[in-house]
Amino acid sequence: MSISYTVLGEPGEDNALHVVVDTGQSLHPLLFDCGEGCAARLRVSECQAIQHLCFSHFHMDHIAGFDTFFRHNYNRPESPVNVWGPEQTIDVMHHRFRGFSWNLHDGQSGEWRVREIQETAIQEAVFFTTEAFAKAHTHTGDDKKLAPERRRARVLVDDAAFQLQAFVLNHGTIPSIAYRIVEPERRNIDSARLSDLGFKPGPWLSKVTDTKVADAEIVLLDNVAHRIGALREQLVVSRPGASLAYLTDFALTEHDRAPVIEWLNGTDTLVCEAQYRHADAPLAARNYHMTTQLVGALARDAGVGQLVLQHVSSRYTTTEWREMLEEARTVFPNTSFPNGWRVE
Ligand SMILES: [Zn+2]
Ligand SMILES: [Zn+2]
Repeated sequence: MSISYTVLGEPGEDNALHVVVDTGQSLHPLLFDCGEGCAARLRVSECQAIQHLCFSHFHMDHIAGFDTFFRHNYNRPESPVNVWGPEQTIDVMHHRFRGFSWNLHDGQSGEWRVREIQETAIQEAVFFTTEAFAKAHTHTGDDKKLAPERRRARVLVDDAAFQLQAFVLNHGTIPSIAYRIVEPERRNIDSARLSDLGFKPGPWLSKVTDTKVADAEIVLLDNVAHRIGALREQLVVSRPGASLAYLTDFALTEHDRAPVIEWLNGTDTLVCEAQYRHADAPLAARNYHMTTQLVGALARDAGVGQLVLQHVSSRYTTTEWREMLEEARTVFPNTSFPNGWRVE
């Protein structure tokens, strides 16, 4: 089980984040934002494998590359494309879908499930390629099978492979959605404990680690009956799964700094914007962006494992970007630029 990631785009350009959750049995790719040239940096097959496209917000530098993504996926046959974003996502996507001439769409596959993340609810609309994306099917329309989803805490997706969470941040007069991916807790058998207790390994061990098996179930070991729950208490060691968060285009308010820190607490990897040098803090505040040191302080206070800086402003020179990295490191030493950025 692992979470791997690639920041798409160069320093000073539009950036996006490609993430793959690998359960060992299946791969789950996600794309966070889709600025100019970002989707084009993925292979076509990688683009077509994206299960969730997650927008922070719709400033141009975060959506300008969407047409490339759409072109590779508009009629994809097997699985729907899930799109997530802030308020207005359904309208923005609908206009995007309809911004082409459609006359050969009849009978084509393609289903787009578009969700708007609000503070306490999620709105959903589904679009079909065979309808030329004409109708937004919502729970308030005639399509009863699309029931409204309840917003459960900050959780958008919760399945066996990973949990996708969201936090609504402040980007001036519009929200910017932060996302966090968390793998399920890892449950392993303590082999030293197993031999101390004199139990022989066997297929019964998978029942002990499988959360779908009830505590009350009984297994026979050397003709002695044991409750699975009791065996779990003695044998299972669990540790948190890997986690990664993506935050971009925001300013922390007095009101949301503490909840964001609590939400990010202990996250392995924080991929975060660092649009401005700390000397330009007034400018950052005016534009509802972060500075290097503010991001470093966020990483430090949230106790993350590592901080990866992206979305640095093109107003700076390469030398200044290098200095920006050092600024963040003075606050949070385990900070880097994405692999492949020739800045250091
Ligand atoms: Zn931006
Ligand atoms: Zn923005």
